[in-house]
Amino acid sequence: MLNLIYNKNIMQRIRSLMKRTTTGTACAVCGLATCLVWLLGTAGCTYMHTRTPGDRISYEEKVGRQFSLEASTYFRWMDDPEVLDFVKDIGHRISAHVIGTPYEYRFYVIRDSTMNAFAVPGGYICFFAGLIAQAETVDGLAGVMAHEICHVEGNHFIRGQKKMDVANIASLAVTILAATLGGGQGAAAGVTLAQAAQQTASLHYSRQFEREADREGVELVQAAGFDPNGMVSVFKRFHALARLNAADLPPYFYTHPLPADRIYEVEGWAKAMRAVPRSKPQLEAQFELARITARLRTERFDALAAEQMAKVEKNPQSAQERFLLGYLHLKRGNLPLALEYLKKAFDMDRSLVEHYIYLARAYDLSGNLVRAKELLEMAYEMDPRNTLTEVFYGDLMAKGEGWMEALHHYQRAVILNPRSSVAHASLAKAYERIQERGKSYYELALSDKCAGRYLKAVYYFQKALKHLDKDGREAKLVQAELEWMGVEE
Ligand SMILES: [Zn+2]
Repeated sequence: MLNLIYNKNIMQRIRSLMKRTTTGTACAVCGLATCLVWLLGTAGCTYMHTRTPGDRISYEEKVGRQFSLEASTYFRWMDDPEVLDFVKDIGHRISAHVIGTPYEYRFYVIRDSTMNAFAVPGGYICFFAGLIAQAETVDGLAGVMAHEICHVEGNHFIRGQKKMDVANIASLAVTILAATLGGGQGAAAGVTLAQAAQQTASLHYSRQFEREADREGVELVQAAGFDPNGMVSVFKRFHALARLNAADLPPYFYTHPLPADRIYEVEGWAKAMRAVPRSKPQLEAQFELARITARLRTERFDALAAEQMAKVEKNPQSAQERFLLGYLHLKRGNLPLALEYLKKAFDMDRSLVEHYIYLARAYDLSGNLVRAKELLEMAYEMDPRNTLTEVFYGDLMAKGEGWMEALHHYQRAVILNPRSSVAHASLAKAYERIQERGKSYYELALSDKCAGRYLKAVYYFQKALKHLDKDGREAKLVQAELEWMGVEE
């Protein structure tokens, strides 16, 4: 039976959440550059060592879950599939190489330009959009991911931490994070840096754990098929940005240095692995899409589009640069420009499925449904297991052949990728249209949960329960979800 310690708190938060979402929250673009932070450092006590592994994991799992519930309204969670599904894909590729892990990993992306990532006990790993925007290669991103996974696997939280009440430690974590984000999101959390600094006084950075996560991360990322030298480049970038912005850094970060010797050490380990970089054109193309989407969500569109235009002019033979420019205009709703660049990219290079599906999307939104359908069918032939092809196909069907047809494609999208927030949101939309209210709320809840919006998920799970057949399969699934989140119905 789950501990229901946070039940009352959740109900209050759901109420304030529903008020807040109607007014909207401001986006913080604070531009802090920081070193990697293992969020809940150490306090030099080994109390938890005496616990059994089962106790330890369930304690960590509770901290992670409680953190996710608390953090879910403080941050803006990204659900763009180009970013979120990509980060999840990289995360699962790497965690699959941790043999016998007791953790179920969950990956999320915060819409903020901070270059950082953090891991929460129990297997919750969050990336900031700024890290995706600043990482130069997919190997670099994978390196940070492996480092964070190694913090979880190394039980760095438990090994150095006094046993604290789950609720306390989770809200402390949220406080620190919110404060480090500066005025925007931090202010929403009602905390200041001074408060955070006071609270972190007992949470010391541990060089030993960073070193351990670096060393093991190098091995893990290599085992997962990435070049460990990518980690070195990201660290150098962290270092350069930290120096550049030193005056703006909050004091908290001075206790988390990324000194040059740490970089040299990682460089040495990476060299010793003698990795032969493997070419991953599909993954690299997806990474570029993720990176430009992360920038689109945290930077000014005009500057970004101008920068991309300059790249097209500099490399007129590059289909990918044109594709990215077209994609930017598509996301912005500039359909004539989107069509122009996406079409040109498609004519130049037909080897990537993304070139088909985004051009199809541009045709769909411009009203040329026939051409859109042709392109999506070609995309199917290339890659029959692409979640976004199904989602876009469903959207197309919803306009022409009807919602039952759309429903079929969205269901397939969810089967192909049950962790995709956009797939669940699309399926919710189709259920809504065919008057299946309970199933629609259930899918909305799953969509929010997949993106990290846990409290909203709780809200929709509860709504779903009111509409679902009490003895049906879905109602049982919803009850299990609510129980897992520690909420009574
Ligand atoms: Zn770390």
